[in-house]
Amino acid sequence: MNTTPDTPQRLHAAQAQRVTPSPKAPVSNTKVPVSPMTHRVHTSGVGMDSQAIRFTMVQKIQAQGMQDPRVAEALRAVERHRFVDSALVPQAYEDTSLPIGLGQTISKPSVVARMLALLCEGRSGKLGRVMEIGTGCGYQAALLSHIAQEVYSIERLRGLHDKARENLRHFRLPNVHLILGDGMLGFPSGAPYSAIISAAGGLSIPQAWLYQLAVGGRLVAPSESPSGQQHLVVIDKTENGCVQTVLEPVLFVPLKSGVM
Ligand code: SAH
Repeated sequence: MNTTPDTPQRLHAAQAQRVTPSPKAPVSNTKVPVSPMTHRVHTSGVGMDSQAIRFTMVQKIQAQGMQDPRVAEALRAVERHRFVDSALVPQAYEDTSLPIGLGQTISKPSVVARMLALLCEGRSGKLGRVMEIGTGCGYQAALLSHIAQEVYSIERLRGLHDKARENLRHFRLPNVHLILGDGMLGFPSGAPYSAIISAAGGLSIPQAWLYQLAVGGRLVAPSESPSGQQHLVVIDKTENGCVQTVLEPVLFVPLKSGVM
């Protein structure tokens, strides 16, 4: 099985290669539940009118070729301005990446949409259990909560893990589980996952992710190619092994090990 190379988004579909998970057992991470607390209030005024702004943002993303209705619905529903600092609220609906603290960034909406559409491609209805590596500010986790039954989102930086928990409180999403841990190890308790998505790119795709991906499941992540350039990579796990498709060049923050 390979990913469909003829969709308009598959601009750079190239190599397909087999990846076999090695037999090492991954180490477990700690799951931290999302508990209720008051949410941050932004005072800039974007909040009141943000629905119209979001609809426009989604129209622009659709005009670039993103056609998945589930992703469009999620982008319309989730208020991106609630995930950025007050000073950045006016830019929240521009197609731009924004700093979220601790040297990390929230990806631009068109890239997030592209990755989510790839996760949904070829499947109907909601995705089952999804693992996200790199919770960051929690924006993509909130989007995933609309397109998947359960979302397990891992962040290695405590400061961002706490920030995401605070940001997400307002949305009351019982199907989002935030985990403080090293995402390179995945989260075996939630496995097998029908989809895995990473917002950080390493030199290779960690074996733990391939193990924890269900047969029939799909992984979308940035990964460095031998030339040192990051590319978006799609891996489909079949009964006969994993099939990798390398797509367009991308620029994501590095995947790092350990918890800080
Ligand atoms: N999806 C996020 C994007 C955050 S940027 C959002 O919507 O905001 C990528 C994140 O990956 C950063 O927060 C970074 O700390 C995190 N990250 C990098 N390596 C990681 C690892 N091994 N495990 C978990 N998170 C990791």
